[in-house]
Order: sequence, then structure tokens, then C-alpha cells
Amino acid sequence: MSFKSLGLSEPLLKAIQKKGYETPSPIQAKAIPPVLEGKDVLASAQTGTGKTAGFTLPLLHLLSDNTAQRHRPIRALILTPTRELAAQVFANVKEYSEFLNIRSTVIFGGVNQKPQVNKLSQGVDVLVATPGRLIDLENQGVLSLNKVDIFVLDEADRMLDMGFLRDIERVMKLMPAKRQNLMFSATFSKDIKKLAYSILNNPVQVEATPENTAVEVIEQKVYRVAKGKKTGLIIKLISDGNWKQVLVFNRTKHGANKLCKKMISAGITAAAIHGNKSQGARTKALAGFKNGSVRVLVATDIAARGLDIPLLPHVINFELPNISEDYVHRIGRTGRAGASGEAISLVSADETTYLRDIEKLIDMKIEVEILEGFEPDPNASTQPIKPGQNRNQGRRRNSNNSNSGKSKGSNSDRNKNRNRNRNRNNDSKR
Ligand code: AMP
Repeated sequence: MSFKSLGLSEPLLKAIQKKGYETPSPIQAKAIPPVLEGKDVLASAQTGTGKTAGFTLPLLHLLSDNTAQRHRPIRALILTPTRELAAQVFANVKEYSEFLNIRSTVIFGGVNQKPQVNKLSQGVDVLVATPGRLIDLENQGVLSLNKVDIFVLDEADRMLDMGFLRDIERVMKLMPAKRQNLMFSATFSKDIKKLAYSILNNPVQVEATPENTAVEVIEQKVYRVAKGKKTGLIIKLISDGNWKQVLVFNRTKHGANKLCKKMISAGITAAAIHGNKSQGARTKALAGFKNGSVRVLVATDIAARGLDIPLLPHVINFELPNISEDYVHRIGRTGRAGASGEAISLVSADETTYLRDIEKLIDMKIEVEILEGFEPDPNASTQPIKPGQNRNQGRRRNSNNSNSGKSKGSNSDRNKNRNRNRNRNNDSKR
């Protein structure tokens, strides 16, 4: 199987060659042909599978067949849940369209809208966007979606988790009814299936890995440990193993900051990435982590979603997520593109239920180890520490947010973000 045999045009093949890709990844091999045929596609794939090229390459192929127009309306819209993912997808679109006459840009909240507005006013074929800023700029009359031929909904499951259902519905109303739709999601809950049903027409279904399955090349291990000894244990593991690039997950922003400070005191370079950090700080932390100047990146689930960190050798769950699916997303950050990786979870007594739920979801028992000096506390309760935080939080976030979604278009991006943050804070402080 080669990219050429998939039927992609020469300028795209040239860009692919420049990227150094030799063969299409499984999701690319499966998704590219039906997209080229103009069909709607429902794809089960998480970050790390090459899904971005899976939709971007055929999308660019289709658009480049027809670029003669002088006035350039937006013909393809790619909607993503987070700023980081939007920026990453845009970077990919830029690279793959290097040898094509295609213009693209990216818009997201949290930054000044002026440069984005300027870019849009010059005319773009492909727009990558997060929902809040997209709706805001549409309300201001800065952009129109009434010529969109291809709509891509990326990481649909996370969109719903973040309470974007209302926004997605609003965006759909702004586009022509007749268009091609591609939807990507790592997991397939009932809500996702319902959304797919409302967006897609007769979709071709493609799958990269069986749904909700932890990638087999990832070695998973649990350290049972007393809650108060977790920091000591994580520092020991990283120092003794001399690990150079470790992604650490925390459930809360506060926890991420605290852990980050302790790492730094222990002489380990670390940075935190979460929703309260400015876009600049997030970009800087990620760049430092990628270039090796930052050894440990401490992240919350929402912030880490969609980060493209190739060949990550170590992921540590400092705390288990209270939503089991997030575990699969987290460990999917390692063992990418066929490389082996290790995912370690530090589990205290109060996380016993979470562990059991995760093992149920991935349908396997994770190997347990206890390290001398870092034993679990035999007297600690196995009750979750915050009983208010349960698996229903995604749903509650949705319903909260649908109220804010009802507000009029005059709502600024900042207000909407504040609402969202408040909802998130209420639920999980992540
Ligand atoms: P994604 O799942 O789209 O975030 O892609 C994950 C990583 O795989 C990115 O760093 C891509 O550049 C890389 N990638 C995508 N397609 C291929 C391919 N066919 N061969 C090798 N690497 C790829």
C-alpha cells in the first residue's frame, strides 16, 4: 500500500515525501479512499494514529480540484475542541498544502482576534477553528460558512466532554445542508453515536484500533502507594530511571501546579500545562518539552488532549482519571507510531474504584507493584475522596453549558470561556 495507490495528487505526494512518511497508517489507508469518493466518514481513531493526515490529505485533494475562484469562500471547516489541537491541525494543513494553491488559517479564543480577522478577510479555503471563536467571528460578520463543502469534526468525544454540543449544533446551521461530513472520535458513547447520526449521511465507518482498547504495545503498570508518598515515588522513578521526557497527568490544575513546583525543587525541570495557563505559557511549555529542555510536563486531561508529542517513552498517571475513557487517551500518548512505551499509574486507596472501572473498560488486569519505602497505607479508606465527582460529570458539563450556549451572539469569547471554565471548575477543577 502506498500513498500514490490511494489516488492522491502529485503535489500532495510531494508534501508527504517531504514529511518523510513512507506508507499510509491504517486509518489513512481506510479513510482516504472513501473521503476522495465524496462520502461521509465516521472514523474511530485517536491522536497518534495519523488521523489528521487521514482527513487533511483527501480534503486538500478535493479542494485543489477547484481553486479557480477569485473570491475565496471558506470551503472546508475543521472544528477541534482545543486550541492546541487546532494549532496542530493547522500546522499539518499548511505542510500538506505547501505545493497547492490553497489558503488556510486557524482561529481560536484566548488571543487577540485582529490578526485572525485580517487573515480571514484575505480569503481562505480551509479554516481550522475551535467553536467559541468561530461562532463569535461569525456573529460579528467576519466570516461566513455558507459555502462550506466539507465539514470535519475532530475529536468529537472530547467536544461533548467539554460541553460543545450546543455550539456544534449552531455551527451546523450556518453551513449548507448539502456537504460532505467527516467525524473523528476516539470513543463511541451513546451520545457520540447520536451526534454522528445527526451530522452524517450514510457514513462509511472506519476504525484504526478497536474502540476503547488500550494500545497493546504499551506496557502498563500500577504502583500501589500511600497518597502522601506519591510525590516521593514519582521523583524516585524519574530520577532512578533517568527518564528524559515524561508526561505526567493530574486531575486538577492546582495539583498540577503543586507537583510541578516539587519536581523543580527536586532538580527536575518541569512545566505545567492546563486551562488556567495563558496560550503563550502553554505553547512555551510544550515547545520546551518537545525540544528536551523540559523533562517533565505535568498536564490535566483537557490541556493534554490532542498534543502531538511523537515517540513519548513515559506517561505517568499521578492520579487516575475519574472518567475511565480518559485513561485510554492518556496512555495513548505513549507507544506511538509503533514505538514501545510505558504507562505507569500511581494508585492510592481512594482510587481503587477508578482502577477497577478502568480495568473493566480495557478488559485487562494491570500489573501491580509495590516499591519498598512507598507502600500503600493499609488504613486508608477506599472511598473516592470527592464523592461529588463521578462519571456523570461530562453529562453535567453538557447540560450546564447548554444554558450558556443559549445566550445571544453578543456574548464575547471571553465570557463564553469563563462560563465553560466555571462549569469545568465546578465539576473537576481540571
Ligand atoms: P496524528 O494522529 O494525526 O496526531 O498523527 C500522529 C503523528 O504521526 C504525527 O506526528 C504525524 O506527523 C505522524 N504521521 C502521520 N501519518 C504518518 C505516516 N503515514 N507515517 C509516519 N508518520 C505519520
